[in-house]
Amino acid sequence: THFGFETVTEAEKRERVAGVFTSVAESYDRMNDLMSFGWHRIWKDHFVSSLNPGFFPLTSSPDPRTAPQHILDIAGGTGDIAFRMLHTAHVINQNPNVSVTISDINPAMLSVGKQRAQSQLPASQQAVLNFVEANAENLTSTKPLGASPDAPTQKIPDESVDLYTVAFGIRNFSNIPAALREAHRVLKPGGIFACLEFSKADKYPLFNEIYKRWSFGAIPLIGQLVAGDRDSYQYLVESIERFPSQEEFRDMIVDAGFVVGGKGYEDLTGGVAAIHKGMKP
Ligand code: SAM
Repeated sequence: THFGFETVTEAEKRERVAGVFTSVAESYDRMNDLMSFGWHRIWKDHFVSSLNPGFFPLTSSPDPRTAPQHILDIAGGTGDIAFRMLHTAHVINQNPNVSVTISDINPAMLSVGKQRAQSQLPASQQAVLNFVEANAENLTSTKPLGASPDAPTQKIPDESVDLYTVAFGIRNFSNIPAALREAHRVLKPGGIFACLEFSKADKYPLFNEIYKRWSFGAIPLIGQLVAGDRDSYQYLVESIERFPSQEEFRDMIVDAGFVVGGKGYEDLTGGVAAIHKGMKP
């Protein structure tokens, strides 16, 4: 297909990814449900509860239950992870001192997220939610959503983040090692990098076969029928195929300077998705 990314430059890839997400922004949430049978919600719920934002024992603050925590949700799109983080922190853990910056390279996705926040979140949660335009590979040059093109850029400072999350975003990056280096830079020592991403289900050959047929056959078709956009969804399926295995990606996280526990990842639904975590020592 014309999305054969092997031969294109980083800049070209970035432009195509921008095109894909601009064209899917409006239909993105509905399509996620259709393509994964709603499963992405279960994965996201599990991802967020496994991180348990708001309960933050690794802190010098006198009371871990109300310790301030700053979460940076990278490639946050329309807000699914950020909203769950705020709910868990503020409502379940009763810790109002948790703030979330939701950042994405694509202002169209962020705008949908901002509208959703305004209609779905209580004012107290909206007050601690920031929307920032940023390329994950370079967090030294970001902009608040909606800032004028000539507004000065802002650097996310070194060692300013307690928890860095990226869900279904990293496989779209042109330069994953650069993004991991930036994650390492902005995290405080003791801070956590956490990634939820499609992965390899090849530990179960029969299941894998069915899954591959579904994704290569049905997803571009659903994209065409529901969103009128076959190419973007074809790209999404191919980007999953190209993404490294659980073990390869774990090794990249370690190479960026993180420490991982155990094997360094958790498979979800037989490896259709996986969670990787690392701590900045
Ligand atoms: N995290 C959200 C979720 O789980 O619903 C959104 C995931 S969406 C599949 C992927 C997002 O990655 C898109 O919003 C896209 O704009 C963003 N993205 C792609 N390349 C990026 C980059 N280099 N830096 C930051 N965000 C990027």
